[in-house]
Amino acid sequence: MDDKELPVYKLNYNITQFFSMITNIDINDAIKAGLKNEIVLAEKVDGNNINACCSSEGQVYLSPKFAQAVWNMCYSGLKLADYNLSEEECNKEGTTLDELYVSVLKSGCTLPECLYIRELHDAKDWELMIEEAIVFRRKWAVEQDYDLMAKMDISNAFGTRVNGMYMAGMGGILLHELTHFYKDHWDKKGCIDQRDLEMDADNVSFEALLALPIAVRRSAVLGSLCSYLLAFFNNKDLKSVDSYYREDIRLFTQFDKIVDKDCKRRADVIVAYVLSRWLKKYHNIDIPVIHDHEEDAVLQIRKELKRI
Ligand SMILES: [Zn+2]
Repeated sequence: MDDKELPVYKLNYNITQFFSMITNIDINDAIKAGLKNEIVLAEKVDGNNINACCSSEGQVYLSPKFAQAVWNMCYSGLKLADYNLSEEECNKEGTTLDELYVSVLKSGCTLPECLYIRELHDAKDWELMIEEAIVFRRKWAVEQDYDLMAKMDISNAFGTRVNGMYMAGMGGILLHELTHFYKDHWDKKGCIDQRDLEMDADNVSFEALLALPIAVRRSAVLGSLCSYLLAFFNNKDLKSVDSYYREDIRLFTQFDKIVDKDCKRRADVIVAYVLSRWLKKYHNIDIPVIHDHEEDAVLQIRKELKRI
């Protein structure tokens, strides 16, 4: 199986572009201090499975299957947020997204906004894409999964927006890894709780996302949230580990720090739908998500998560 078939491979160049927008870390300085300029794509480092990591020698590694899982989760997130908000806009006009879709098809309109309505309507169901994300996250992907992903259109209007979320989400993950190197976290191992070093690296990456130009910040924040949501599907009991704070603590620390008014509604929609599905699937807990009251569902979800 050739990993190069995964669509995310085509996006690696753009991650470099994303890094050129980062202002709160001097990446050139880190490179002078020994950070390797190139990301090595690998599923294992020293015999251990990885998602993303940075060695004390300054080599950043990234698992292609993990990267594909993040892309798939961003796909789900965008479908959820844009579908729900577009449906709401339609309802205000006394119509539905389905009706709008039919009228766009009939008219043959090829304006970008018309094409986007068609692609949004046709985009795969968000729950199916989460299932696909889990496959890659857990590294079970088989030939059919690769074929399926190879067929995804990452260059249409919808795919391009997923790419924007993915690159920013991935940029945040790589910044986290880079921070371990930049701040020389290895030297301090044993003196400070490793969990606080992880939180420290998370915080540097959040600050970088907040400092992004406003035009890309919203998709960066949502992409980053999607990458943290993905982690829930690999730890269904939210078992604490010594080296990381629990997934819900990491997600909501980020949520409270970086979700601003520009993306609050979309962030609420994504978190409410994804985590209510997660609670139902793994803990049989029902949290109803009511249209226009997703914020309340998120509050309820946070309470339930604390009890796990
Ligand atoms: Zn880390």
